[in-house]
Amino acid sequence: EKKQIRKPDWLRVKLPVGKEYAKVRKLVDDHKLHTICESGNCPNMGECWGAGTATFMILGNVCTRSCTFCAVATGRPPEYDEQEPTRVAEAIKLMGVKHAVITSVNRDELKDRGAEIWYQTVVQTKKLSPDTTIETLIPDVKGNWDALHRMIEGGQEVVSHNMETVERLYRRVRPQAKYERSLEQIRRTKDAGKRTKSGIMLGVGETVDEVHKAMDDLVANGLDILTLGQYLQPTKMHLEVAEFIHPDQFNAYREEGLKRGLKYVESGPLVRSSYHAERHVNVPI
Ligand code: SF4
Ligand code: SF4
Repeated sequence: EKKQIRKPDWLRVKLPVGKEYAKVRKLVDDHKLHTICESGNCPNMGECWGAGTATFMILGNVCTRSCTFCAVATGRPPEYDEQEPTRVAEAIKLMGVKHAVITSVNRDELKDRGAEIWYQTVVQTKKLSPDTTIETLIPDVKGNWDALHRMIEGGQEVVSHNMETVERLYRRVRPQAKYERSLEQIRRTKDAGKRTKSGIMLGVGETVDEVHKAMDDLVANGLDILTLGQYLQPTKMHLEVAEFIHPDQFNAYREEGLKRGLKYVESGPLVRSSYHAERHVNVPI
């Protein structure tokens, strides 16, 4: 019988409460929006929502993929909603969001992978809130590079695509993705002149050397910003935590990443790809 490993103290966080939190909660509900903060049971909801930041998830809340760490439901998604870009743009304006993070489920069944909705969401958000900066955390387009270009040409400041884990663990963690293909997507995003960002979850069984290798691969493919955080199991049905990485090791990874040529590394147990995202807009490209 496997013993459940206990959560260390550095992962204990405050419960989401407060006026700002309640305001964001209401706006998200009123506009029938989905957030990755809720779907992922993110431990930073108190901090981020309290500061008026939320990560919006577009193209519905059912995903065609089944990454083993992810709490979003897998299945055949219903028709997408053409009004969604407008609703997201309006919510961002009403919330007075200074930096918006937008992400989506994978829509592998759509020919354009959802690129047009992505494009419209960015363009309409910029139209209603010209001073708001945007990070788009985009899915794996499965090699549809036309779709990629549409997704990233709306004027967003940061384009992220998460590698999630090291090469060896892809089959276990992201069964429908390919390590090389995700690297290529980052390379092509960089070649299109965008500020690139990616994230890796730690504690799923990777070794230090494998993380360093991933850093080298990312630098070689034009990555600017990397986030490293502790993986937490969203429910007992999901991939198990293999290890709780010590904060000292997170610091060592940050140093190592910068030494290997990354321009910015956000590294710590509670770091999520959208954590402190507003700081990443000014990273030089
Ligand atoms: Fe949401 Fe990201 Fe903040 Fe978590 S870190 S609460 S996912 S914005
Ligand atoms: Fe979750 Fe994204 Fe994987 Fe879909 S593609 S299962 S939303 S991590």
